[in-house]
Amino acid sequence: MDELSPDRIRQALADVRHPTSGQSVVTLGMVSGIVVKGRNVGFALEVPAADAQKLEPLRRACEEAVKALPGVGSCTVVLTAERGPPPDMQARPAAPAPTRAGPPGIDKIIAVASGKGGVGKSTTAINLACGLRAAGLRVGLLDADIYGPSMPRMAGLSGRPTTADGKKMQPMEVAGVKLMSMGFLVEEETPMIWRGPMVQSALQQMLGDVAWGELDIMVVDMPPGTGDAQLTMAQKVPLAGAIIVSTPQDIALLDARKAINMFRRVDVPILGIVENMSYFCCPNCGHRTEIFAHGGARECAAKYNVDFLAEIPLDIVIRETSDSGRPIVVSQPDSPQAQAYMNLALTVRDKLAGPTGVKPFPRIVDA
Ligand code: ADP
Repeated sequence: MDELSPDRIRQALADVRHPTSGQSVVTLGMVSGIVVKGRNVGFALEVPAADAQKLEPLRRACEEAVKALPGVGSCTVVLTAERGPPPDMQARPAAPAPTRAGPPGIDKIIAVASGKGGVGKSTTAINLACGLRAAGLRVGLLDADIYGPSMPRMAGLSGRPTTADGKKMQPMEVAGVKLMSMGFLVEEETPMIWRGPMVQSALQQMLGDVAWGELDIMVVDMPPGTGDAQLTMAQKVPLAGAIIVSTPQDIALLDARKAINMFRRVDVPILGIVENMSYFCCPNCGHRTEIFAHGGARECAAKYNVDFLAEIPLDIVIRETSDSGRPIVVSQPDSPQAQAYMNLALTVRDKLAGPTGVKPFPRIVDA
C-alpha cells in the first residue's frame, strides 16, 4: 500500500478533534478531497461559513497531524464552507476588522487586479514582477488566481515545490523572481470549486507557508472579478496598493471601475490603471491601429482620479512569449514591448517609494 494513501491520511487525522463536540474530524465527515502528490498532501476541511475564523486552529492541527507522518513534505489544508453562500461583505452592517498582518521579511505587497478575466492581468503581473527584478529589487510573485492559475505556464515551470525543513515550501523561481502558484500544487485538470473561507485560507497559506525570504516587493496576481472572494483577499492581505488592468473598451472599463471601487471599500490605495491591448501594431509594416478606441482607460483614470500607469500594445510577440513561458521582459528585454513593461515597473517602484505614497482613495459614485 502507498504509505501516503488517503486512508493513511485519514488515520492520521482520526485523533484531531473538533474543539466543541470533541469528536474526530474524520468521524464528523469534515475531511474531503484528499490529494496526495509525491510528498505533498492537500485536502479540504468542511466547516460552516460562520465558524471559519474560529476553526483556524483546527485547520492548523490537521496540517500538523499530517505533516508528522513520515514521508510528508508539505500539507495544505483549506477550509470550505459546507453550506450557505459566502458572506456578503457589502450587506454586512459592520465588517470585522481586517487582519492585515503580513509575513515577516516582505516589505510591500501589491495586487494586480482586473474587473473581469482575459484582459491580460497575469501577463501584466509576470512582466511587472520581472521588470521590478530587472530594476534590482528582490521580488516575489504570488499567483492568487486560484480559479485559473496560469503562472506555471507563463513562467515555463512545472513540477512541485520542495521543502527544506518539512514545514515551509520553497518557492519556484523565474528570472530571479520567487514564484508560488496553486498551479504547482494541484493538477491543471483538477476541477477546483473554491468557496469564500477556502479562498482566504489558500491565499494566507501561500503567503505564510512559503519560504519567501526577504523581499522588497511581492506582486499578487489576483483572481479576476470583484466578488466576495476578491474582496476578502483584498481585505485580508496587507496590500500597499493595487494596479487595475483593463482593455480600452467601455464594457471592460465598467468592470475596471468596479475593481477600483472594491479596493476603495477595503482602504487599499489604487496605484493606477494599466491599459492593455491598447492599440495594435502590425508586425509587418509597423502601422498602428486603435482597434478598441484606444485611450479609454486613460479617460477612466482621469474620471476616477487615479493615475494612468501605462499603455501596453496588443501584440503577437507579447502573446507568444507570455503563453510559452518566456515573459517578454526577460526574453526580449530590448524590444519596445518589454520597455513598456519596464517603464511600468519603474513607475510602480517610484510610487511605492515616494514620500507621499499614493493618492488618497478616489470616491466613486455609482451611476
Ligand atoms: P487574464 O490574467 O486577465 O485572464 P492573461 O494575462 O491570461 O489574462 O491573458 C489572456 C490572453 O491574452 C493570453 O493568451 C495572453 O498571452 C494574451 N495577452 C495578454 N496581453 C496581451 C497583449 N498585450 N498582446 C497580445 N496578447 C496578450
